[in-house]
Amino acid sequence: MTTDGALARLIRSSADRTAAAGVEACDLCAAPVPDEHAHLYDTGQDEVRCVCGPCSVLFAGAGAGDGHYRLVPRRRIRLPKVDTAALGVPVGLVFFVPRADGTVTAQGPSPAGAMRWEVDAAAWIGLAETCPQLASVEPEVEALLVNTVHGLDHHWIVPIDDCYRMVAVVRREWRGLSGGGQVWPAVERFFEDLTERS
Ligand SMILES: [Zn+2]
Ligand SMILES: [Zn+2]
Repeated sequence: MTTDGALARLIRSSADRTAAAGVEACDLCAAPVPDEHAHLYDTGQDEVRCVCGPCSVLFAGAGAGDGHYRLVPRRRIRLPKVDTAALGVPVGLVFFVPRADGTVTAQGPSPAGAMRWEVDAAAWIGLAETCPQLASVEPEVEALLVNTVHGLDHHWIVPIDDCYRMVAVVRREWRGLSGGGQVWPAVERFFEDLTERS
């Protein structure tokens, strides 16, 4: 387990941007972007970058771009309950990201900040045999997002930027050592607001 510095940086920088201007700009060409805009995943920095419509088109389609930036997909799929016990991650609010090299990482918020675990790749493949949609999760840019805290039963395939938004909610609402009274209702609202999308 390590504190995930890159993820923490991303959350800080997006918070700074929101506070600073209220207007977001394309990270490639600096054109202003609307509230709803595409994101690129920066494979070198493990961060997402905001892009305008014309720039996003440059990265659409398999094999587009130079491999450094990957367009983050839009789809969201709510899955039936997935038994993630075999993946061995000891928290109920977590997202799993398969990597291009076949490894799988899990990341989740904790009092110590964003935590990261390496998941047994064979256990992930075994899980995908019980839930075939997991085999379609696009490496690096999509994730299995899980919330089983307080008896909830949310299992989703989501774009990676949704996971970063979830972590930002936790970071904003967490108080003290235990999280306080605000954080779990805020997380529940986040999941209630997720809508399926193709
Ligand atoms: Zn642009
Ligand atoms: Zn953005």
